[in-house]
Amino acid sequence: MAGELIGFDERGTHQGDHIVRGTAADGMIRAFAITARETVQTAHENHSTSPLVTAALGRLMMAGQMMGVMFKGPDELVTLTVRGDGPIGGLTVTANTHGQVKGFANHPNVWRAHNALDKLDVGGGIGAGTLTVIRDQPGIEPYSSAVELVSGEIGDDLTSYFVLSDQVPTSVGVGVLVNGDTSVKQAGGFIIQLMPGYYDYLVDELEHNLAGVSSVTSLLEDGMTPTDILQYLLRGLDYQQLEVVPAQFHCGCNEERATRAVVALGKDELRDMVEKGEPAQAHCHFCGKDYVLETSRLEELLAQASSQK
Ligand SMILES: [Zn+2]
Repeated sequence: MAGELIGFDERGTHQGDHIVRGTAADGMIRAFAITARETVQTAHENHSTSPLVTAALGRLMMAGQMMGVMFKGPDELVTLTVRGDGPIGGLTVTANTHGQVKGFANHPNVWRAHNALDKLDVGGGIGAGTLTVIRDQPGIEPYSSAVELVSGEIGDDLTSYFVLSDQVPTSVGVGVLVNGDTSVKQAGGFIIQLMPGYYDYLVDELEHNLAGVSSVTSLLEDGMTPTDILQYLLRGLDYQQLEVVPAQFHCGCNEERATRAVVALGKDELRDMVEKGEPAQAHCHFCGKDYVLETSRLEELLAQASSQK
């Protein structure tokens, strides 16, 4: 167990990006919280996102990371897609059950004036549209469910998804605070849900506890960890922590997958590139990485493809 203490401070809380999962009110409440500054910063660097898109993508990525830990089927993946008529156009995020997430925005460099609250106008950047959640487990038909966006602010939209799609009363808060130099200052969120059979008084208690919170990032700015945040939001409700999961931006793309994508273009396309002496390029949308296959490699692939048929 000694090795697992690395990265934990003297209070036993994890210091880097992580997700916590817990329960309260004798299991009638389940709760998740995340801090993910590095995760969102990596997305910002990979995709050169503007502050507005950093916030939009970061919010959806963190929701995905918490949902990955929530669902926890073996090797389950959760994909969240937002499509909107605003200038960002759309967001796509995929998270697994191990706190890892990848994601991209259709238009990563959108700038907009702040909204009436003097905050990044994520809702205006996304516009009207839909949120789709796809749960994908090996050997099981993927399960997909979509809801209309409520505000495009992501947190509200996820809340609506859980209520409409899963009939689970839920509060979702996700927030990203960006520095003047466009780097990420704070990123975090929480999901709190009432489980079937909950007592009605818990609704009032939760609403009362949540009423005084202006934003998740303000709690992080106050120095709170995800554990602190859930203890604070669930005060008086006997919060019990169950699990801490490290969180990170992770894309599983590699040279081999990029090569398969190029081979999938077909022999005619490969021959064409070889004849023109053009290297092939494969771009990973999720992490922004570019793979270049030189013509000598393309010749090998063409020879292999030709010998197979
Ligand atoms: Zn990638």
